[in-house]
Parts: sequence; structure tokens; C-alpha cells
Amino acid sequence: MQPHVDLALVGGGSTATSFLAQLIELLDNRVHSQPWRILVFEPSKRLGPGGPYAEDLSTNLLNIPAGKMSAYANDRGHFLRWVNSQSSTLLEQHGVVNTDPAAFLPRPLFGLYLTEVWTTLLQRAARVRIEIKHIPTDVRGISLAPENSDTLLDTPMGQYRARRTVLCNGNLPSTTFPELTSRPGYFNTPYPAIDLARNIPHNAKVAVLGTSLSAIDAIIALKENGHQTPLLAVSRNGRLPSVRTINSGLFPVNAPTLQEITSLADNQGGSLTLQSAFSFIQQRLVAAGGELDWEDVLGQGDHPHDILNKEITASTSKPRVWQNIAISLNEIIEHIWRLLPESEKQIFNSKWRSLWMARRATFPMKNALKIKHYIDANQLRIAAGFVDCQPCKDTGGYTITLNDAQGEVQTHQVQYVVNATSFSTNVSQTDVPLMRSLILQGLAVPDPYGGVRLDFDSGCLINAEDKIVSNISLMGSLAAGTYFWTTSLDVNSRLAYQQAKRIAETVPHLACVEST
Ligand SMILES: Cc1cc2nc3c(=O)[nH]c(=O)nc-3n(C[C@H](O)[C@H](O)[C@H](O)COP(=O)(O)OP(=O)(O)OC[C@H]3O[C@@H](n4cnc5c(N)ncnc54)[C@H](O)[C@@H]3O)c2cc1C
Repeated sequence: MQPHVDLALVGGGSTATSFLAQLIELLDNRVHSQPWRILVFEPSKRLGPGGPYAEDLSTNLLNIPAGKMSAYANDRGHFLRWVNSQSSTLLEQHGVVNTDPAAFLPRPLFGLYLTEVWTTLLQRAARVRIEIKHIPTDVRGISLAPENSDTLLDTPMGQYRARRTVLCNGNLPSTTFPELTSRPGYFNTPYPAIDLARNIPHNAKVAVLGTSLSAIDAIIALKENGHQTPLLAVSRNGRLPSVRTINSGLFPVNAPTLQEITSLADNQGGSLTLQSAFSFIQQRLVAAGGELDWEDVLGQGDHPHDILNKEITASTSKPRVWQNIAISLNEIIEHIWRLLPESEKQIFNSKWRSLWMARRATFPMKNALKIKHYIDANQLRIAAGFVDCQPCKDTGGYTITLNDAQGEVQTHQVQYVVNATSFSTNVSQTDVPLMRSLILQGLAVPDPYGGVRLDFDSGCLINAEDKIVSNISLMGSLAAGTYFWTTSLDVNSRLAYQQAKRIAETVPHLACVEST
């Protein structure tokens, strides 16, 4: 057994970075009565970027403007100030020409920023007697010590004991095509995108399964790196995400407040309905100078290519205030979700979730124009009606089956398949040892809306006996069932701040000092 520590952090990606940076900031002005010890378990050598912001092609763009990406919930301009303090050589290496707050910058650049946030937080921690040690391995299981006093973490490097554990372990790998996972020519994720560009021959026939943000990264990675054969990108509905308007600054919106949403619920006996939440959002839209243009909001059209053209036109010519409103909901989104009764959540899940996912996630004009260019040059076809993808015994490749708009069955033979159907949050289906261990012991239970059940106020696990496990909390995409939109850094950094504040209050200290 390794020595006893105060806090174990599982994962060293952006959520963990944001949590720890804010925790250290909260503890930075105190003299600690004894050293406080933290272990960070992260198999990667590099702390900070996690998956989405890892070293990769600069064509992987952030889907949130630079002015809103920050590790610090209370300092949204932190990343942008860092960008503006960097050398022009570094920015040029990442293809950055525009550093205004509305710019969509490369994700690997954001990864460099996160690495620097780590370096700074380590220095600050050392000053106030907080010891942080990186254990470069994954945690395979967590159990509770007798009396439930401490958490025990099992790793290939031995067992560790911590008073408290915070899980920031990110997404689960996609389980959409389990039978294809170990086959040649199949990529279960588009990341790192550079692997697609390096390993797929330029003249190979390739299908990208999915038409969401990850599919866009995969297509652009292949095409910008010389892929010559036309690509097929296919999903059930063929919907690309909405294109972010370039006119978003024209109609700034005030974010709704918790007080507003709580009093709306109070007026209805303490909860919201989908209808009341929708009316509230609609009022905000009108108050901000927008209008409810259903065709624009829903992105209707006959063919994915027409829809993209309409999106580009709308996002070039109109302010599309509904996009600003949707983004502003991030400030309180978990409370709207919490205030919906179970029956309303179920309706949302069955009728609206897939539409929300497709329309809420927007992508930058720069990438939309690239996609349009490939389509116009017959280098890309986006199709709806995906039925399945089967390995083809004769050719060693894959047969993609889809139903075209007329209901006719079409098949396509390809040599390579890129699964861009997004990651999983379904802990019941995963073979990730850590999540299986938590579920098998009953320390965690699956949440029907994604990830595991958590106590809303503390972020701690709720076990199979419906009790709060007060020394294990979780943040990031596996918290989606409780906080709903946990795939956005601004939401995660805000939740991480709240978590850091709760934990900071438990840290013994002698006095407060002036921070330098
Ligand atoms: C492709 C993609 C692009 C995105 N782009 C944006 C964007 O532009 N803007 C935005 O706001 N959001 C974006 N998101 C949403 C994204 O989920 C969050 O912003 C954020 O990156 C999630 O960070 P995380 O630390 O929770 O997870 P991750 O970044 O996945 O980090 C989890 C870390 O935990 C480690 N880990 C996992 N299991 C274990 C274990 N058992 N033991 C030890 N370590 C473990 C992993 O190695 C990993 O480093 C994107 C998501 C994806 C998938």
C-alpha cells in the first residue's frame, strides 16, 4: 500500500486541470497547518490537454470562440490573454491569424495553454505546501476502506489510499460497432486525426460514419492532407451541426440567471415543464431582438448538401440570435435540467435530444466552407439513411448500406471506415475497468440520461442503495445525467469551480495571508 494522501484526482485532462487550478487558487492565500497531498492519476505523460486538446492537426478547431474558452470559470478571458502573449512563430505554426475573442482557434493550441495552466498551478501549490504528484498510470478500480473513511485506488502500479477521490476520467470509447473494433482498416475514433492522415492511403475508399463535429474533423484531416478519392460521410439523418453565425456580436444576449429560472419553477409548484422552459427561452430570444424562425432553428431542407448551403447563407447574412440564446443557456443549463420532472426528461430524451445535439453544437464558418468546397468539387458526399456497416469477406474491406431519399437500398464498398459517431456515456455497456468496478460494487449506478447518478449539490456518486458516497465525486461527460450539458468546457469549468470551493472548505489551515 502506498502512503495515504488527502486527494486523488483520476484523469489529467481539461476538467481536472480546471478543477485543480481553481482549487489551488482558492487555497493560495492560506498558510496550511500541514502539507496537503494530492495524487493525479493520468496515463499520458502530458497533463492538461486530455483527449480533445491533445497534440494533433491544427485543423481540429475549437467549437467555442476563444473568448469563452478558459480553465477559470471566473476569468473567461484567461485563454485569450495567453494566446496574445505567445510568439508570432508559435501562432503561425498553428495557422492562427486572427486572435479576436470570436475566433475559433486550433484545439492543440488550447492544449498548450492547458499544459501551461498545469505548470503554473504546480508552482503556486508548492508555495502553499500543497504537494501534487503525477502517477502515470490508469486507475482500474476504486473501493472504500472499512468504515468508508477513505478511498482505495487500484492501479497497475499498486494500491493507493486517499481521503477523497475526484473522477475526471472523460468519455468512454464508442461502442457503436463492437464487432469491427479490432479489424484492419477500421478506426474506432477519428482521433488523433493525424493518424487518419498518416495511415489511410490517399487513393483508398473511405467512409466516415457520423456527420457530427468529429466527422468534420476527420473529413478535413483527410482532405487537407492530400486524400484524393471522394469521401462518403453517412449517418441516420445526415445532419451536419449548425454553422456558427459570423454575426453573433450584433445581438449580444444577457445570460439567464438562476434566480429567473428558479422563480419560474416556483410559480409552477417547484418544477418546470418543457413547455415553460421553451416559452422562457422564446421570450429571451424576442427580448434580445431575435425571432423564432423554425426553419432556421431546425435546419430543414431536402438534402444534407442543401441544408449546409442554407446554413452558410444564414450564418453569413443573419445574426441567428437563437444560437446566442442557446449558448447563453450554458450558464444555468444544469438547473433547467434539474427542475424538469422525470416525465418531462423522458419526453425530451425520446423526442428532442437528438435534434438538440445536432443543432446546439455549432461549427465554425471556416470549416463549413471547406466542407462545402469538397462537396462542390465532388470530393465528398454527405448522406442520410445509414443502415449498417459490415465487414466484407471477399475484399477485406467494408460494405456500407444506406437507404436513399427514395427508400432505395444502396451499398458502398470501402477499404477504410472511420467511426465518428461520437464517444459513449453509457456505463452499462462499457468494458472500461474503472467504471465496471464501480458499477459491479454498487458504488455507482448508471444514470438513464448518461454516465452515473450523482448528488446534484455535491457532485458525489449515488450508490446502489441510493446513498451519497461523500468521498467520491465526478465531473465531465459522465456527469451528463445530472448536469446535462457536460460536454462544454465553460460548463465543466463552472462545475469544477463549485467542486473546488466545496473541497477547499474542508482543507485545514492556520490563517489567511496576502497572496503575492
Ligand atoms: C473531439 C472533441 C472536441 C471537443 N471540442 C470542444 C471544444 O472545442 N470546446 C469545448 O468547450 N468542449 C469541447 N469538447 C467537449 C469536451 O468534452 C470538454 O471540453 C473537455 O475536453 C472534457 O475534458 P475531460 O477532462 O472531462 O475529459 P478528457 O479530455 O477526455 O480527459 C480525461 C482524461 O482522463 C484520463 N483517464 C481516463 N480514464 C482514466 C483512468 N481510469 N485512470 C486515470 N486516468 C484516466 C484520460 O487519459 C484523459 O487524459 C470536445 C469534445 C470532444 C470529444
